[in-house]
Amino acid sequence: MKSVKYILLISILLLGIVFLATLPGTMRKSKTEESTTASASSQTSEQSSVSLNTSVADGSSAIVVGGEPESSASSSSGGGDAAVDKNEWAFFLINQTHPLPDNYTFERKAVQGKFEMDARCADYMINMLADAKKAGVNLNIVSAYRSVEYQQTLLDNDTKKYEKQGYSHEEAVKMASQAVAIPGQSEHNAGICADILEAGSYSLTEDFEKTDEFKWLSENAAKYGFILRYPKGKEKITGIEYEPWHYRFVGPYYAQKIKDSGLCLEEYYEKEKGTN
Ligand SMILES: [Zn+2]
Repeated sequence: MKSVKYILLISILLLGIVFLATLPGTMRKSKTEESTTASASSQTSEQSSVSLNTSVADGSSAIVVGGEPESSASSSSGGGDAAVDKNEWAFFLINQTHPLPDNYTFERKAVQGKFEMDARCADYMINMLADAKKAGVNLNIVSAYRSVEYQQTLLDNDTKKYEKQGYSHEEAVKMASQAVAIPGQSEHNAGICADILEAGSYSLTEDFEKTDEFKWLSENAAKYGFILRYPKGKEKITGIEYEPWHYRFVGPYYAQKIKDSGLCLEEYYEKEKGTN
């Protein structure tokens, strides 16, 4: 009996020793955890403030620094959403059935030489011309903003040309207006388009589509917000002959959508806004 009691006592003592030996260990461990958590959180806030600063200066490098991918991602994507400018002011029709309002006014800005456009889209054109040049493509504007008065002169000249060929005045006006829009019905009057050719050329002919300049425009114009306004095969809808040289500003957002859709502006506009 005595030996049994002795063994029990020793066991209790051993258990006690084991318990005491473990206790400081767990305490030490939890302390270590605390300090790591504290240093980790201070690191995180430091890093996230760095990444925020970086995303302001250069959004693309935020991920590289990225202490907190979630917060930097949401802040940059939030900013991205707000930054999408649809240029709604430029998303409208000007054609035979949608003339410009009489009181339509806008500020103009030079885009190349004497040629001017609506100041709200002038920089898009300026950037496009500059980037084309960097790519070795010399785009040359031959017409941009035209006053309503000048538009009338153009139409009169073209009408006379057809009258000389023996057409009646009415027929001549109808034929002329296929190539030269009636004043107030031309995008040139609104300063939102430009006729662009290769450097050194001044003749608006379908041959322009064979040039490197046309190829570059076909690939890149949408990025700068411009569409080929009078495409081949859409003449009956636009009411204007195929014009590979005429580029109309609708903003990069709509330009890409229109390009991808394969529709002309009349068709796309109807789909988006309905007829009016
Ligand atoms: Zn034009």
